[in-house]
Amino acid sequence: MTYDTATTLLKSDNATNHEVFRGRMYIDGKWTESASEQRFERRSPAHGHVVSTFPEATAADVELAIAAADAAFRHGRWPKLKGAERARVLLAIADGIKARVEKMSLIESLETGKPLAQARGEVSGCVDLWQYAASLARTTSGDAYDTLGEDMLGIVLRQPVGVVGLITPWNFPLWILSQKLPFALAAGCTCVVKPSELTSSTTVMLMEILEEAGVPAGVVNVVTGKGPSVGQPLAEHDAIDMLSFTGSTRVGSLLGGLASKKLKKVALELGGKNPQIVFPDCDWDAMIDAVVFGVYFNAGECCNSGSRVLVHESIAERFAQAVVERARQVPVGDPLHPDCKIGAIVSEHQLSEIVGNIEKGVAAGARLRLGGKRYDAQGLYLEPTIISDVTPDMSIAREEIFGPVLAIIPFSDATQAIEIANDTAYGLSAAVWSRDIDTCLTVARGIDAGTVWVNTFLDGYPELPFGGFKSSGVGRELGKQAVEDYTETKTIQLHIGERRNWWLPRPAA
Ligand code: NDP
Repeated sequence: MTYDTATTLLKSDNATNHEVFRGRMYIDGKWTESASEQRFERRSPAHGHVVSTFPEATAADVELAIAAADAAFRHGRWPKLKGAERARVLLAIADGIKARVEKMSLIESLETGKPLAQARGEVSGCVDLWQYAASLARTTSGDAYDTLGEDMLGIVLRQPVGVVGLITPWNFPLWILSQKLPFALAAGCTCVVKPSELTSSTTVMLMEILEEAGVPAGVVNVVTGKGPSVGQPLAEHDAIDMLSFTGSTRVGSLLGGLASKKLKKVALELGGKNPQIVFPDCDWDAMIDAVVFGVYFNAGECCNSGSRVLVHESIAERFAQAVVERARQVPVGDPLHPDCKIGAIVSEHQLSEIVGNIEKGVAAGARLRLGGKRYDAQGLYLEPTIISDVTPDMSIAREEIFGPVLAIIPFSDATQAIEIANDTAYGLSAAVWSRDIDTCLTVARGIDAGTVWVNTFLDGYPELPFGGFKSSGVGRELGKQAVEDYTETKTIQLHIGERRNWWLPRPAA
């Protein structure tokens, strides 16, 4: 039996009350247009109107931004400031974000298509990331070794790595930038930021906050425009010391390869095909809620999306029916409607990719239980989709879809569940649902993933490291090491007292 979604699209009248945001680039402390004087526009994927416009950066603009960051690092005062002083600036930035939550959330919602309520949660959550980075600016330190013998003291310094290129995607624009920039600044680095061309506004708005908070000119620079022309130099340019990228595995491995060839430090936060593994003894209601939340949060446009559910075969049919019933109640539609939980898909390209993936799954023999089609309405909306009877070899079980699409895969025991969970190129996150502690720990230890949730999903804290195994990335963000990732280690060896000559015998005592 095939279900149709009963959900009707939510509508709102607020969309038209929005002023177009005219963004500019921020280079060496100045607000600038592109050398070419060209601009590009971003339209709301939900409403179709122009939300914002930005300069289309040229190679010359990117060169200026990198030169400014380089000069600010080599000759500026930011890397030399006391940790306490950098912390004060980061805390002022956190306050600046807090004061602009409404303004930034609205434009984030209009550009991404995500529900306004969710954008508010995301923007206000960034405050905590900047505050946490401020705490690390004061506490990150090197080490000393007084255990090397009477005549030697070892000192290990943590020095800022230099100029960092930051490339961010469109799904959580301000959040993902806030997982990188405050930590790079806490370390004393200088940066060039390239936001996604689809969602550049909050990155540009953040520069107003940085300016007010007293970040010196050249320390952070923003260039706007297309990935290959504007982003690629941040991986290749000789003056860039480190690349930190979040986005697709395809572009991440391309840029990581280019940066590694130049022997730069590289941090990559890439895709996922994250399994939630459900055992029959779990808390049923909590699990169903977390499965629906896990796949439909941010319309599934989320590297951490719980896009695969591995269900014990004894409960697979009961699970499919329950999750379909719950998914039918999730409100879809205008992101500005207060009840909205699933907004618009970010672009026509992304929407047709998702639909293509669904069709591929059905053609391979999987069973469409809910949704599967775009809504016949203005705006880029997709029905919440559930597909069951998926086998681990199907592309729908293995490839990142990045949309509101759940694949249900049955398993027979914990060993097989772990095998299926690990049988993809990715290893970002996973969850296990059971009341049995042995089951939870066995599965959590066996899965190749940077994060494993037990009886919950998608919680996150700045204190906890985040990142992936395998093709999900290289390195970790957040956690107490977050600032260290933007440093180089320098060893200083201090000799104490008279140094023994290399070849002359010691004078007799
Ligand atoms: P991309 O990886 O293409 O984009 C991420 C960032 O990289 C953007 O700023 C983009 O700029 C930039 N970029 C793109 N191509 C290049 C290049 N050749 N050189 C330098 N920078 C580049 O992701 P998409 O936006 O195209 O999304 C495609 C897929 O990626 C999604 O379907 C999803 O699977 C995955 N994705 C994963 C994310 C994650 O969080 N792990 C986030 C976003 C996407 P621009 O936007 O201007 O092209």
